[in-house]
Amino acid sequence: MLDGPALWPAQAHLPSVIGRQIVIERGEGSYVYTSDGRRLFDGTAGLWHANIGHSHPELAQAAHEQMLRLETYHTFNRFANDKALALAERLAGIAPIERAKVILNSGGSDAIDVACKLARRHWHREGRPSKTVILSREFAYHGLHAYGTSIAGLDFNREGYGSDSLVPETARISLNDAEQVADTIMRIGPDRIAAMVTEPVQGTGGVNPPAPGYLQALQRLCRTHDILLIVDEVITGFGRTGTMFASERYGLEPDLVTFAKGVTSGYVPLGGVLIHPRIWEPFYVDSPATPVFRHGSTYAGHATAAAVALRNLDILERDQLLSRVTELEAILDRELPALRDRNPAVSEVRSAGLLGAVTVAGHLSAERIADSLIDMGFISRPLRGNSLQISPPFITTNDELVSFVRAIDDAVGNAH
Ligand code: PLP
Repeated sequence: MLDGPALWPAQAHLPSVIGRQIVIERGEGSYVYTSDGRRLFDGTAGLWHANIGHSHPELAQAAHEQMLRLETYHTFNRFANDKALALAERLAGIAPIERAKVILNSGGSDAIDVACKLARRHWHREGRPSKTVILSREFAYHGLHAYGTSIAGLDFNREGYGSDSLVPETARISLNDAEQVADTIMRIGPDRIAAMVTEPVQGTGGVNPPAPGYLQALQRLCRTHDILLIVDEVITGFGRTGTMFASERYGLEPDLVTFAKGVTSGYVPLGGVLIHPRIWEPFYVDSPATPVFRHGSTYAGHATAAAVALRNLDILERDQLLSRVTELEAILDRELPALRDRNPAVSEVRSAGLLGAVTVAGHLSAERIADSLIDMGFISRPLRGNSLQISPPFITTNDELVSFVRAIDDAVGNAH
């Protein structure tokens, strides 16, 4: 029997991690510091969250000021708080949806649960209660709450619960083949499908940018068959692909957008959903017969989280960090293909914005290479398909990004 610390690590095969944990005690900009005194370049921005870098004093200040004024007040029924209102206004102003309304909650998994519930609620209210199936893509990751677990395209996340899905009626669609998606829709029947969920660029599934035209084809299929399009921007939202939302980059007009991570750069837990008028308007009709969307939680619209998000958005704009992403994207566009061409143990590279992955040949282990990168002072992370994650903070310098890619090159070379 292992006797590790009381904290049960997330997603871990415990015998593989107990006694080997890397304890991060401090962060500064693009670097974190371990309890045994090492300084590591954070090449993944934690879990794709620390976009403005770690331990930014202005966000600490925003949280401090807000907590001294009011930690939070809930947003049930007639209550609201000024910071939640201000954040929702600000998000509606930058959303890839005209006249969006905003539901706030605690994170990405939470946002996915809300979006899927709201999609089903929408069709029920429309008098089409048979539209309950949620479609999602192969290799998709949408968090690990009940809906996220059930719609994951990563099958191992659904194993061991006694049925293939924790919620009724989900189905997988092809990663990049729109014709197969059309076939799947016809097989299930459009009258049974509530929504299709997609990451614009798949993250945990291996950093898979969409095939040219694929997302637009999904959008057309959704319109044709009365299927709501839920774009999961938990990773891509707030600049990771160089536009505020990746929906802009790929010309998408979603019905619902989920977001989290980058909205606060991960400084406090916060997520939410942006909602198209075609979904929210019926709930705003001035009539006793108007339906209710019965959803909420204690922390929905948390005032301190909202205050931190507002300051984070100020910093993104003031420091022009989206332009930095575009500059860093050009470096990945140059360095990653060069890495693939010179290193025979690299089988594939993929990227979009400041989001990249390097796939290593089958006889090597991305997990072991990530371990050796730690010894070299760089954090990467193994992703599906024997790949290594590249997603540093937006404040990374050009030289740091080049050094990180070259360190991956060396680590792969040494793994032979
Ligand atoms: N959706 C996507 C695309 C994600 O990458 C993640 C987390 O990585 C989630 C949802 C879940 O977010 P959270 O971990 O905040 O619950």
